[in-house]
Amino acid sequence: MTAGPWREAPLIAGNWKMHKTPAEARELVRSLLGQLAAELASEVLLLPPFTALEAVVGELAGDPRVRVGAQNCHYEAAGAFTGEIGAPMLAPLCDYVLVGHSERRHLMGESDEVVRRKLEAVLAAGLLPILAVGETEAERSAGVTEAVVERQTQAGFAGLSVEELGRCTVAYEPVWAIGTGATATPDDAAAAAAVVHRVVAELNSGGVAVRVLYGGSVTPSNAASLLSAPGVRGALVGGASLRADEFAAIVAAAG
Ligand code: PEP
Repeated sequence: MTAGPWREAPLIAGNWKMHKTPAEARELVRSLLGQLAAELASEVLLLPPFTALEAVVGELAGDPRVRVGAQNCHYEAAGAFTGEIGAPMLAPLCDYVLVGHSERRHLMGESDEVVRRKLEAVLAAGLLPILAVGETEAERSAGVTEAVVERQTQAGFAGLSVEELGRCTVAYEPVWAIGTGATATPDDAAAAAAVVHRVVAELNSGGVAVRVLYGGSVTPSNAASLLSAPGVRGALVGGASLRADEFAAIVAAAG
């Protein structure tokens, strides 16, 4: 797996979370492939649960329109970590690994430091990390959204080389918008994306930019406006990615 020119395109990623058996995953992939246009302007990525990765890869059968990633990994490559999965174990199946999703930060107690170590593990395995950042409702009400996005981006990317940063993507996902039906406005998304772009430019003296996605209740009806927010180059989609028709419509909205 090497990074290629497809990374210039918008990325539309579907986070299936803790849904789909291997058989259900195959069915969803079959249905999705039948609904995607033959040629896509966007890169499409599926993030199934670990147990369905192999089924998804098999069902895709090398279809160049869709890539596969994992929703999480451990920060160590291997060892006595019962129930965990190391990034090298994902490398034969995946291109991408998501780290720092808010459900891991807030439900599983993952700190900025743990997220950074996971991101390093993903890079070390030759994979492409997607770093999720975003403020909670309380942080938004306290007016510290930009500070949270800045802190999480800085912490996630601390110490990376320009080459490593160039392999990273950021997903701005306001926690209050995930799975709630509430979305940020395109202006909110653009403001957060601007913070990410500034932090990344500061970290590597402007040498490389990262792709920034928006996530949080993206649907076929709001996708086009959110995807047109300045600085936003794709979407991380949860609930709507579990329905082939809705996910295909979001991909189509990306152009
Ligand atoms: C997510 O899980 O990353 C997400 C954005 O979920 P939803 O689209 O359901 O809000």
